[in-house]
Amino acid sequence: NFAEYFKPMKYQYQLRLTPEAASKTALLKSAVSLHSGIPEKKITHIQVLKRSIDARQKAVMINLKVEVYVDELFGPEVFSLPDYPDVSNREEVFIIGAGPAGLFAALRCIELGKKPIVIERGKDVRSRRRDLKALNIEHIVNEDSNYCFGEGGAGTYSDGKLYTRSKKRGDVNRILELFVGFGATKEILIDAHPHIGTNKLPAIIAKMREIIIRQGGDVLFETRVTDLVIKDNKICGIKTMKGESFSTKNVILATGHSARDIFELLDRKGIKIEAKPFALGVRVEHPQQLIDKIQYKCDDRGEYLPPSPYSIVKQVNGRGIYSFCMCPGGVIAPCATSPGEVVTNGWSPSKRDQPTANSGIVVELRLSDFSKYGNSPLSGMQFQKSIEQTAWHLGGETQRVPAQRMVDFIEGKISRDLPKTSYKPGITSAALKDVFPEFIHDTLKNGFKEFGKTMKGYLTNEAIIHAPESRTSSPVRIPRDYKTLEHIDIKGLFPCGEGAGYAGGIISAAIDGEKCAENCIALMS
Ligand code: FAD
Repeated sequence: NFAEYFKPMKYQYQLRLTPEAASKTALLKSAVSLHSGIPEKKITHIQVLKRSIDARQKAVMINLKVEVYVDELFGPEVFSLPDYPDVSNREEVFIIGAGPAGLFAALRCIELGKKPIVIERGKDVRSRRRDLKALNIEHIVNEDSNYCFGEGGAGTYSDGKLYTRSKKRGDVNRILELFVGFGATKEILIDAHPHIGTNKLPAIIAKMREIIIRQGGDVLFETRVTDLVIKDNKICGIKTMKGESFSTKNVILATGHSARDIFELLDRKGIKIEAKPFALGVRVEHPQQLIDKIQYKCDDRGEYLPPSPYSIVKQVNGRGIYSFCMCPGGVIAPCATSPGEVVTNGWSPSKRDQPTANSGIVVELRLSDFSKYGNSPLSGMQFQKSIEQTAWHLGGETQRVPAQRMVDFIEGKISRDLPKTSYKPGITSAALKDVFPEFIHDTLKNGFKEFGKTMKGYLTNEAIIHAPESRTSSPVRIPRDYKTLEHIDIKGLFPCGEGAGYAGGIISAAIDGEKCAENCIALMS
């Protein structure tokens, strides 16, 4: 008798299904019933808890962890946002930068009863679009509003990949749940490699700002911070480009990896910062169909599998070379933040339905690689800048980037013609060896050969290499006390997120934002 074994409750199962069975509710229900022995009519809800694609065998399979509700009237609880209090009259915390670190710091401040004032050099997400259009079409780089600067920070017009190497699942799940609370699809809570997509991120970020303001916080756009006022090794204020001064004892500095003027300001003021190793290379674009063929081992991925990502890492010439920020079905974006330089990165829409796959392929750098620029904390940044400027000259002194077919790059031939690229400003055929120091060029060349051995078909002249991919992480670290998270010398200053060297990606920046807010508030009371 079934009732004896299955009281109304929930059961968890691991399943391995075809992509079609995993995608269709009716097929999934039959599969669960077959696997568990629970009659289909007793199953009231199936909640997928985890989902990952296993493409190691010839037939691609989907691994699922499901929670099955038997005779339960109600399904899983829907996640809702925290009950944010009104903080209009509470003590203030100044947050510089409205990227994921700054926004999550602001929301955490509200949760903990403090009033965040977010100061952002760029524009709100909607107004920012006009500047991105000008960048793509007219090659105009607005130094305060571009793919890196503006509401939502560098991640706003991205693939919105939300995975991280962070080991602390609790922290990651909290951030993912907050994203869902602000409007992201619940799928991000279950996918092994969740992503949101450029078309969905702006509305989520705008909702975060609306809540910050509704609860009594403040967000000032088009307000670049130009100075930090420091007395007796304590922060006591900030100054902006508009000539305004704000007195404050609490500043979370979350200005991202591209705020070179902030690094220069700190250096000029004698506030301790350090050069930090990062990675640099190129952005490679293949037809998505080719990547699907390599990864799924079939000519057509069919209607139930998503465009395939890839992730690859090799050791070549004693250095790591690896794929970075891979965007399936995506587009390469012009990510310069100043005129006279070119920078690439990638984004994709939520459906990842563009015909090309792009990925950064970057070489691990060491501090000794920057020795040409002396012992300065800004040596890595100068190295990065010089490569971006060289590429700008080679591309034709617009936002066009120098490019080469992959096999031509390896054989040292200039490409006679170039395939169509997703990079809107356009590409110029050039010898990319002229962009990089020899050790980077050599590691890339040998790296591509190695990649071709692991991913058969990867090494092809159908692939276009765009140069450079240079903003992989911050070239500077702003040192902080590992317990209080305050700057090691300046009280009240909390270096935060990717720019300070404590995050690499949207999720880790958001986690760091929350931690800085918590520490800042703990020291205030
Ligand atoms: P940022 O996001 O860089 O935010 C810093 C903010 O500070 C900016 O808004 C900037 O305008 C502001 N600011 C700078 N200087 C000043 C100043 N002087 N005064 C006031 N404001 C200032 N990561 C992922 O995890 N997944 C992805 O799919 C992904 N794709 C990406 C695609 C692109 C095109 C780019 C550019 C990045 C991508 N990243 C991705 C990286 C991710 O965006 C960053 O890791 C993340 O945004 C870092 O967060 P942050 O808050 O520390 O800094």
